[in-house]
Amino acid sequence: MRYDVIVIGGSYAGMAAGLQLIRARRSVLIIDAGERRNRYASHSHGFLGQDGVDPAEIATNARRQLETYPTLSWLNDRVEAVSGEVDDFTVMTAGGPSHRSRRILLAVGVVDHLPSVTGLAERWGTSVFHCPYCHGYELGQGRVGIIGASPLSIHQAELLTDWGEVTLLVNGALAVSPDARSALEGRGVTIEEARIDRIDAHADVVMADGRRLHFAGLFTATRTAPAGALAEAMGCALEETPMGVQIRTDAESKTGVPGVFACGDVARVPHSVSLAVASGAWAGAQLHRSLVWPESLRRAERRHGATP
Ligand code: FAD
Ligand code: MG
Repeated sequence: MRYDVIVIGGSYAGMAAGLQLIRARRSVLIIDAGERRNRYASHSHGFLGQDGVDPAEIATNARRQLETYPTLSWLNDRVEAVSGEVDDFTVMTAGGPSHRSRRILLAVGVVDHLPSVTGLAERWGTSVFHCPYCHGYELGQGRVGIIGASPLSIHQAELLTDWGEVTLLVNGALAVSPDARSALEGRGVTIEEARIDRIDAHADVVMADGRRLHFAGLFTATRTAPAGALAEAMGCALEETPMGVQIRTDAESKTGVPGVFACGDVARVPHSVSLAVASGAWAGAQLHRSLVWPESLRRAERRHGATP
């Protein structure tokens, strides 16, 4: 069988897209490797109607609702390669036979490259975070440490002053210019230049000089990149964002490769469950339109300069 759409990545963005398509009675295969970006967190915040809910529960409920539609197929597997072209793609998975479709949606999410500080990775999503809107409120306006990672750490430190008493732990990861220093001090940020030895206990930072700084929670600006090399291998253009690298799409969620669309964290910044769902819902409708009016794909090719 040839599906209308194969969605690669069955989390918030991929499922939101799939929902639009199966409600249009289109055949959709969602293939998901089960590694949601927020799997380290026990509570998800900021998604209207689901504030404070376990992110796994949000995903499980969504999947249960999708599975009541007869044109949905679901595979727990990892896509390793995609070949072919618009109207006849072939998708190879790690686990077995290949699958065919007319369109491809990349909703694979991103991976976070964390700064290499001892004790940080183990606390990612429990006492070390990146998004203040997601996890800032719960710190109860206590002391917040920013683990220096990149020039974005300055912006993060200034912003977090609305959530607590902020210390920027530079840790040799960025240069703080005199202008940045006065802006930070103007917002009441303490700047700590000494090196970090490790993170300990809940969110204590032990400095190389032996001091132990207590915090209610820690934040760090991660660098993100598409989860896996699929998009690149398929010839999709990537682009830089302030947060890392993403797949380039146009206003209709199309990549430059005809018939290949992308949505969610891997295709837009900033990143959140709400924005991933919105991006997926939009991409799902755009995919549907491309099936009804295939000529619209040619416009995308021209815009991206993929064909003469
Ligand atoms: P993801 O949820 O990352 O899902 C991508 C899916 O694609 C995964 O299931 C993955 O396994 C699958 N996949 C990837 N490659 C393949 C492949 N080759 N084959 C098959 N499947 C594949 N946002 C909020 O709004 N509120 C919060 O409280 C919040 N907390 C967070 C806490 C942490 C620690 C982190 C890191 C992020 C948090 N976020 C939060 C952000 C949120 O997780 C993302 O914005 C959201 O998950 C993006 O959804 P997505 O569908 O684009 O990608
Ligand atoms: Mg998804």
